[in-house]
This record gives sequence, C-alpha cells and structure tokens, in this order.
Amino acid sequence: MTEFVQVKNFINGEFTDCVGMLDSFNPATGEIWAKIPDSGQNEVDAAVNAATHAFPRWSQTPQAKRSAILQKVADILESRLDEFAVAESRDQGKPVSLAKRMDIPRAVHNMRFFATSCLNHQEKANYMDIPGALNYTTRLPVGVAGLISPWNLPLYLLTFKLGPALASGNTVVCKPSEMTSVTAWMFCEVLSEAGVPPGVVNMVFGTGPKAGDALVRHPSVPLISFTGGTATASVIRAATATQCKKLSLELGGKNPGIIFEDADLEKCIPTTIRSSFVNQGEVCLCISRVFVQRSIYDRFLEKFIAEARAIKVGDPSAPDTGMGALVSKEHAAKVIGYIKRAAEGGATIQCGHGVDKGVDGSNGFHPKGYFVRPTIITNVKDNDAIMQEEVFGPVVCVVPFDNEEEVVRRANGVQYGLCATVWTSDASRLHRVARKLEAGTVWANCWLLRDLHMPFGGCKSSGVGRDGAVDSTEFYTEVKTVCVQIE
Ligand code: NAD
Repeated sequence: MTEFVQVKNFINGEFTDCVGMLDSFNPATGEIWAKIPDSGQNEVDAAVNAATHAFPRWSQTPQAKRSAILQKVADILESRLDEFAVAESRDQGKPVSLAKRMDIPRAVHNMRFFATSCLNHQEKANYMDIPGALNYTTRLPVGVAGLISPWNLPLYLLTFKLGPALASGNTVVCKPSEMTSVTAWMFCEVLSEAGVPPGVVNMVFGTGPKAGDALVRHPSVPLISFTGGTATASVIRAATATQCKKLSLELGGKNPGIIFEDADLEKCIPTTIRSSFVNQGEVCLCISRVFVQRSIYDRFLEKFIAEARAIKVGDPSAPDTGMGALVSKEHAAKVIGYIKRAAEGGATIQCGHGVDKGVDGSNGFHPKGYFVRPTIITNVKDNDAIMQEEVFGPVVCVVPFDNEEEVVRRANGVQYGLCATVWTSDASRLHRVARKLEAGTVWANCWLLRDLHMPFGGCKSSGVGRDGAVDSTEFYTEVKTVCVQIE
C-alpha cells in the first residue's frame, strides 16, 4: 500500500484528526502524495477558540520574549532547510534547488526580520500648549488574526504574515492553500519546539469555500490577511462587509517590463528570463508583458527566445532543472488554454508550449506531470486576453513600443497595479517613468530585490494595504491616542 503524508490540523498545540480528508497531488508526477484535512466550521471554531484563549497571555508576553521565541523558530527552520525544500518542491512542483535558494531561506528571513524589527518601533508624541496637554500613541495587537495564503510560494508567503502577526502580539488561525499544505503542517512542529505556546498558532487545512469561508466570516476574527486571486478577494470582501474587519489583500498582477533602447541587455535579458519564468511563472510579481523599444526589438527577441529555450524543464529534484511542473492539472489546462486562444487569435507562439518538444513526456518529463514549457508570444494587441488577464504561468508576451509617453500609457492599461520593471541607463527617465507607473513596486534595472523594510503591496485590482517593517506593524495592531491634560 502507498504511504501518503498525512497532514493534520494543529489546534491548541495538538495535531488533531479531521473526519474528511482531501487528496494532494505531486505536480511532477500527477500522483497523490499527501492527504489533507477537509476542515469546516467545527475545526475553524475549535481553532478560533484556542487562539482566543491564548491571546491574553501572548499579547502580554514582553516584546523581547516574543522576539526570542520567534528567532528560535527561524533558527530551527534554517537547520531543517533541506528537508523543507524537498517537501515544498514535491507539493508545489518547483525545482528543489529553487526552494533551497528562495522559498525556505525567505521563510527563515521573514521570521527573523519581524522578530527583530518589532523591537525598534517608536510611538508618536505631541504637546499642545493651549490648553496644555500631552498626547501620545500606543499600539495594541488586534486579537485573533485569520491568515489565508496561496499555493505558489507556500511557506514563504505564510511566514510573511505569521512573522509580523505574532511579533505584534496577535494569536492566529492560518488557512494555507489546499494544494500546498505540507510545509505549513511541518512548520507546526518547529513552532512547538521553539516554545510558541499552545493556541498561539493554529493551522486549519482545507478548501477556500469551506474552511477559508468559515474563517473569514468568524465573528471572533477581527482581522484577515489574504494573499490570493482578485476574484477570491471580492468574495471575501462581500463575506466580511457587515463585520467591519481589518483586511489586507495581496492580489494578482499583469506586470509590465519596459525595456528602453539604452538598457544594458547583458543584465536585462537574464533578469527578464527570470522574471518571466522563475517558479514556472507562478509568482504574482512575474513580468508577463514585456515592452521593448522598437530599435532593439529584434535583437532582444532573438536572444530572449534563445535563453528561454535553454531552460531545462522537468524533474524538480534534478539539480540542473530550471523549471518544474505547474501546481495542478486544472491550472496547467488553464495556462495552455490561454496560449491556444492567443494562437487562434493570430498571435505568434515563438517558443514553448506546442512549438518545442517535450510536453508529451518524451523529453524527460513524467508523462502525467503538469509541465508547460517557457512560452514567448508576439504579435498580440494590448486588449487581447493574454495581455489583460493574469495567466500565472510560464507565458510572456513581447511587444514593441516607440516612445516613453506611449509605453507608460500602455503599461498602465490593465486593471492590475502590482509591480513593474524599467530598464534604462538614463537616470532622469528612470525616475520619471517610475513615478508615472501605476504599481506598488517599480524595480529599475533589477527585479525581485526585496527589502522588508519597504512597503509592499498592490494598487488598483492588485490589492489593498501594504506589508513591511512599519506597514505590517500598523496593520497587525490598533493604534490608540492617549491625551493627558496638564493643568
Ligand atoms: P486563490 O484566491 O484561489 O486562493 C488563495 C487562498 O484563498 C487559498 O488558501 C484558498 O483556499 C483560499 N480561498 C479560496 N476561496 C476562498 C473563500 N471563499 N474564502 C476564504 N478563502 C478562500 O489563489 P491561488 O490560486 O491560491 O493563488 C494564486 C493567486 O494569488 C494569483 O492571482 C496570484 O497573483 C496571487 N498572489 C498574489 C501575491 C501578492 O503578494 N500580491 C502573492 C502570491 C500570489
């Protein structure tokens, strides 16, 4: 009989059974590899109850002690980096090497960063002379935080919420994605070993419409931090509309990359390859519309296609694999559907799915794995679906432009506003364009350099709120003004 990983809910410091279980697939083989709880209202109620009871003690634990416990969490996770990276790869489909280099180190960094940044916050004070009064602010944790995370960067994004929520003194109920629950479950062991008290972190596994919905509607959960799709965020906003909850929404993107003729192509091309295809293109910050100034368009495209074709796609555990499998059969079908519709509409598929060999299993892929090759599309119009909608896969469109004003207008011409890249050696142009782009983050001559001190989030349909050293503290706490009259 096949042995599956048996994920369990983690409630009040204990791993607990759930009556219903769901299958979780290994994307690289299409086989079931884990069983996860199909939690509902009862499990969510138990988790919220545990978090509610743990709140008074955890919120009054001295900041320095909370910080020490969270730093220990980071240390233990770091010591188990390889094991977590293998599990993340098997659950999500990404190369093990990427999980080792990016996902797990960043999860460690998230815990360590917020464990220490919380020690450095300062309050505001103001003296009024007529009548004499001293005002000052003080911050208090909000209560039980509901943390809902997606499947693309499972532990990385969960810890980006957990770190600041816990450091600020909240207790939490987490609902990781039903497609990638394994590392969150493993992480519970790390939390216990580091001395996080029972009930402070509770994990409830299951689907969005069942476990997620019960969590967001729960009257004892005053704060929801959600990362996921824009359509799901609308459902959550509607479900919580009557309850006045604090909401942070980190959502989808259709991010533009703008490459001017004076760009350093030696640096720009490999970075744009990475920004298009890393993690199978399943990063909300991936660039999916590349605008290239017409004078360098042909030269750029030729090199860009050659580098995309050189990415080795296949077994995520092989050390030379550059791209693994997409997260699910349904998601791979959705991505392929976008490519097919673009081709039917007259676009040119320059390389990748349907053009290059390999998708049939003859080229090192497991025949049942959800693989899609890095795909570059040209000859598309700005209002085509492939240029407007988030595909969230290894698919990028490359189009020419003539001047600065035109490219800014076209780059902004989507419902999303998460991030953008600008490539130029003209410093004035760089700052001018960065200011005009409708995006939460603009990377100039780089991509995905993340300083956690800085605010992160999206505008337009890409989200509401910001995360970062100061921003996360503001979100995970309530600020109070105390006014003392001086006679
Ligand atoms: P998703 O919206 O389908 O699911 C995200 C999470 O929400 C999952 O845990 C899911 O179970 C849960 N959920 C689903 N329906 C729910 C409901 N009705 N109530 C409560 N919870 C519910 O997103 P996904 O497919 O897992 O992730 C991909 C999306 O996430 C993409 O759009 C991507 O751009 C976005 N994303 C954004 C960021 C960011 O920082 N802006 C980061 C990563 C991913």
